[in-house]
Amino acid sequence: MVSLPPSVRIRGRFAPSPTGILHLGNLRTALASWLSVRARGGEWILRMEDVDTTRSRRELGEAQIRDLVALGMESDGPVLWQSERGDCYREALDSLDRKGLLYPCDCSRKDLALLAGAPHEGDGLRPYPGRCRAKAAREGRAMRFLLPPGRVLWQDLLLGSQSDEPEHLTGDPLLFRRDGCYAYHLAVVVDDGEQGVTEVVRGADLRAVTATQIRLQEALGLRRPDYAHLGLVTSSDGSRLGKRDGGLGLAALAERGISPGELLGWLGWSLGCLEAPEPCLATDLVHAFAWDRVPHGPIAIPSSWE
Ligand code: GLU
Repeated sequence: MVSLPPSVRIRGRFAPSPTGILHLGNLRTALASWLSVRARGGEWILRMEDVDTTRSRRELGEAQIRDLVALGMESDGPVLWQSERGDCYREALDSLDRKGLLYPCDCSRKDLALLAGAPHEGDGLRPYPGRCRAKAAREGRAMRFLLPPGRVLWQDLLLGSQSDEPEHLTGDPLLFRRDGCYAYHLAVVVDDGEQGVTEVVRGADLRAVTATQIRLQEALGLRRPDYAHLGLVTSSDGSRLGKRDGGLGLAALAERGISPGELLGWLGWSLGCLEAPEPCLATDLVHAFAWDRVPHGPIAIPSSWE
């Protein structure tokens, strides 16, 4: 395991799931996480979140690493692949179990859909209503975390003070799935803790699960990193990136004649580092990066890129 040398006070990470190409939203997050630590002389590490082995593919992860290198972002130290870390996740689960913070769940997808009723507006999160929490007969292969009640307060580097009640957002999160895969919440929290990550930069779509992850860190005795949740990248008309432009990554942009330098210029401009999108290198942006210059909201891609 990568341990944090005493000289390194800031360690950021980018943690994509290798289930597709890195699209513009992922690349913007990668650059912001890289700039944020580089601007303060910190370390940047890359982690492949391939814990869901049914959806992840090694070659997609390798292509993602190549795209990041082409843009000038290289991991300090070896890339960690979550699929190789089952033993660590098992240990964390066992420790939660010993504390009485885990319970088996036999809800099927269909049960969950029925229990949840209509989808919530906005982010589409449906809290787990706790059906198996109170069941006397404890059955099921899947495992959930017994979320402590109450409000969680945290500071977002970009959004400022945040306050959430995770029981109304995720409810008790799944940590081990019935198909035998460890779940995202467990792997992300264990790895950020064990890798000594001090700063998590990710998309605003994950803001609503942060309080749940903080509760899990607390239960596992792990250090809380700083968080920054970036506005999402949208189509040029402001709508959610769809099938057509969701596939817009380095290769598709190259086909449209857009170079890595031009892409970096646009990304750097979108993060408040440049007055106008002009071609540059990632290293040219480091001195200009500051969280208080990064716009909060979503950012639309240029229509000429679609
Ligand atoms: N692997 C997650 C994703 O690609 C991101 C996890 C995180 O940054 O916490 O959506």
